Amino acid sequence: MAVRELNLCFDIGKGPRYAAGLDNVLLTHAHQDHAVGIALHIATRQLLDATPPQIYLPAQIVDDVRNLISAWERLERRRTRYSLIPVVAGTRYDLRKGLFFKAFPTEHTIPSIGYQVFEERRKLKPDYVGLEGPAIVDLKKQGIEVTFPIELPVITFVGDSTIAPLDRFPEILTSEILVLECTFLAPEDRAMAKKKRHTHLLDIVERADRLTCDTLVLTHFSTRYTREDVHREVMAVLPESLKGKTRIFL
Ligand SMILES: [Zn+2]
Ligand SMILES: [Zn+2]
Repeated sequence: MAVRELNLCFDIGKGPRYAAGLDNVLLTHAHQDHAVGIALHIATRQLLDATPPQIYLPAQIVDDVRNLISAWERLERRRTRYSLIPVVAGTRYDLRKGLFFKAFPTEHTIPSIGYQVFEERRKLKPDYVGLEGPAIVDLKKQGIEVTFPIELPVITFVGDSTIAPLDRFPEILTSEILVLECTFLAPEDRAMAKKKRHTHLLDIVERADRLTCDTLVLTHFSTRYTREDVHREVMAVLPESLKGKTRIFL
């Protein structure tokens, strides 16, 4: 999923051309539907004379991913430029001035992490709220600091996982945008979701009261459902409180 405004994409899929302009890849895990395009993404950026991509990924899989890219370099008789940055949950990683992320462990069948991205902004101190613009300018001229820094959680991308991270790390629920996988929809597929370590639509519905994000994005639906199935099932089951702010990303 590409987020142009933040110059990043969460996972890289098959390495689509529209992602080539993004400098940062935040990889959640190495299932092929999320990671198979990694060498192509690197090669495409090289072809376009773009800077080497910064690829963030779970620390445990760095060696395997490097071996994969190296094998492709040998096959194509060329070297490529890229950075693989091992990510440790809970650590802050700066993407650019005023933009950083922290990762959290997720629960899937292979090593996996989710990402919460923050913007740093400055907010007016409570003492000065309500003052007119010229008064604030005056204070600034006197060298008085009228603002303080805040960290705004702009987006959380959980990636493939059971619903467990939402219960374990409630801070991810504070994001403006929350992107959740919703692989399974039909009530009879609940056991399958559990077995394959994926999220079921009913897991989300059960937590509706806690989903205070401005926008909820549901994605990664099983190919067993048609587009019509997805829209119909989701809208039939979501409570009113979620319907208006939910977007389906197919
Ligand atoms: Zn997966
Ligand atoms: Zn997947």
